[in-house]
Amino acid sequence: MSDNHKCESMALAEAWIEKSGRYWVLNINSVATEQDLEDNHYLEEIGQTIRQVTIQIKFCPYCGFKLSKSRNNVIPGFELHDFSKW
Ligand SMILES: [Zn+2]
Repeated sequence: MSDNHKCESMALAEAWIEKSGRYWVLNINSVATEQDLEDNHYLEEIGQTIRQVTIQIKFCPYCGFKLSKSRNNVIPGFELHDFSKW
């Protein structure tokens, strides 16, 4: 089984699913728009990653594909990385 999953919905944004250790995680990047650059002078260019969230999952929330064959429950959790500040 492949260690990542990408389907049609995820092609519309910077989003991808991968296996990270024992868990499958959904990663979503929030990228800078022109308005973000005007509001925040730390940002340098349109399209740069402002924030990234990583969420533990068992199924793909977009197509329903079952990622984990494990019967163990996935403990809800996330990591948030904020790249908009120094
Ligand atoms: Zn999917």
